[in-house]
Amino acid sequence: MSAKILIVEDEEPLITLLRYNLEAEGYEVDTAMRGDEGETKLRETTPDLVVLDWMLPGLSGIELCRRLRARPETKQIPIIMLTARGEESEKVRGLATGADDYIVKPFSVPELLARVRALLRRSSPDRVANTLAIGDISLDRDKKRVTRNGRAIDMGPTEFRMLEFLMERAGRVFSREQLLDGVWGNENYIDERTVDVHVGRLRKALNRADEDDPIRTVRGSGYAFNDRFGKSPA
Ligand code: CA
Repeated sequence: MSAKILIVEDEEPLITLLRYNLEAEGYEVDTAMRGDEGETKLRETTPDLVVLDWMLPGLSGIELCRRLRARPETKQIPIIMLTARGEESEKVRGLATGADDYIVKPFSVPELLARVRALLRRSSPDRVANTLAIGDISLDRDKKRVTRNGRAIDMGPTEFRMLEFLMERAGRVFSREQLLDGVWGNENYIDERTVDVHVGRLRKALNRADEDDPIRTVRGSGYAFNDRFGKSPA
């Protein structure tokens, strides 16, 4: 069963971004746009983690956090507080009020996902999403298996690591050099053209002739996993 995450945040674009990325990691996501609405939801259901904005209409994030910590049913739920830049003293207050972690806006999505994973590993290790899913492609980190539209995909360990690296950071463009660092580690004697060879193998493994290619080649820059992959055009 996947972990349930409640996002309490009043900025709609941020909710959309977080929901998309958390669902891609396999989490079940619920949202509230006001603090009081978040409190109501938390009386009805118990998520495995709450992403809580500091400044909210209805009831502030800090007050909601304090109330959650005061109730036996909710006091153990991990809370990540979102704060705006320049609210450093408030960050400290946030932790004092019982948030488990905080992250300063604007933040990178992979950074938030890493914090979510870290907290869930501690609190509910059996429910941490170990599957990345974007469009019809899913990658199981534990079983080292990839499927597309339900069919098993065979690939070498390097292609697997490259796909995992790119899917975790979908939308971001990586140069060949960055991919060498991220996928091969410090074996820097590998030629950058090796990256192209492995991207070619990855594509060959993933894509049938009638299927879209999820890997974008960005001329002069490198490669990215298309984060709009599998979504209808906006
Ligand atoms: Ca806000």
